[in-house]
Amino acid sequence: MTDEFPRPMIELTIDDVPVRVPAGSTLLDAARLAGPDVPVLCYSDHTHANGLCRLCVVEVAGRRGLYAACVTEAQAGMVVHTRSPNVVRARRTILEMLDASVDLSESPELQALLHEYEAEPARFVGAELRQPPLLDDNPFYVRDYAKCVLCWRCVQVCAEDAQFTFALNFGQRGFHTQIDTFFGRPMTETTCVFCGQCVGTCPTGALRGKREFLLAQGVPAGEVLALTRRRKDKKKG
Ligand code: SF4
Repeated sequence: MTDEFPRPMIELTIDDVPVRVPAGSTLLDAARLAGPDVPVLCYSDHTHANGLCRLCVVEVAGRRGLYAACVTEAQAGMVVHTRSPNVVRARRTILEMLDASVDLSESPELQALLHEYEAEPARFVGAELRQPPLLDDNPFYVRDYAKCVLCWRCVQVCAEDAQFTFALNFGQRGFHTQIDTFFGRPMTETTCVFCGQCVGTCPTGALRGKREFLLAQGVPAGEVLALTRRRKDKKKG
């Protein structure tokens, strides 16, 4: 989409590569234009950036701390480093902390990042794993929040970023914080329209289509069909 009023262009440097972007662009936009691959987890091209996961942090010369590239506005003259030792260490630590408390086994993207950043699986040995029970309360998908990294993407697509259904939100507190329905109601008693967008955007396999889930459990395809059909009929009745 083109801007109705074209924005002025600004220049900055990303990993020694000069780049020109429209004013108001984020550092992530600029980095993508310059070439470096900045990892993202909570951000996707279909959801607003929140700077929640901090995997996209970069270093800006002359400034203290690290900046989440997805929410930091690019400014003229900035000198940005996307792979400095501080950046790599921060990303590795975030990945190690996630790996220590969440089951990331069904997230190929996170597995690739753990490998790329040489994350040490035993770094936080003894850390408590989040192991809430699997929620199977509707005919269409299951929710396994033991695999959830609280990236917020499912909540965003359920709300203003796509469906405007508002069936999901945060529940609980602290270590036990998890995505939940309002008052913890079963999904069939919420405003959910079972559009499947939350399942599509989930980066970790925490949300899975019912058929895919049953097949992965070793349930024969014929039985899966019969099972899901029975559940749908029951719902209609
Ligand atoms: S269920 Fe998936 S999309 Fe939703 S917050 Fe957890 S990891 Fe993110």
